[in-house]
Amino acid sequence: MDCIFCKIIAGEIPAKVVLRDDDVVAIEDVNPQAPTHLLVMPVRHVSNIDEMSPGTDGALMAKLIATAARLGREHGRDGYRLVINTGPDGGQTVDHTHVHVLAGRHLTWPPG
Ligand code: 5GP
Ligand code: ZN
Repeated sequence: MDCIFCKIIAGEIPAKVVLRDDDVVAIEDVNPQAPTHLLVMPVRHVSNIDEMSPGTDGALMAKLIATAARLGREHGRDGYRLVINTGPDGGQTVDHTHVHVLAGRHLTWPPG
């Protein structure tokens, strides 16, 4: 499968891995938009959040969010932002579900 995040998880493409267990991996974004910009993703390939359902993937969905929130707390100063871009209009450019963790500066709203 031609998925850049699967290749990173498999160790075929280098990345700065900040956390890894059997279910989730967190890496530093190669093009950071904040002092801390991490990507938390499932080890298993899932294209986007629309392909996950609470019935079958509830535990994994919860773990993705909980892990991202913990990293945001650990790296943030006074808050952080979690983002899940989904589909072309949502700005998703890598089709492997990932939660952006942005922290370390004041983030404006709304995003573009
Ligand atoms: P999306 O646009 O799909 O929400 O987010 C994809 C993110 O992956 C972008 O922020 C982009 O900078 C990051 N990214 C794309 N390719 C690579 C890569 O090869 N390594 C790392 N570490 N991040 C990547
Ligand atoms: Zn993948």
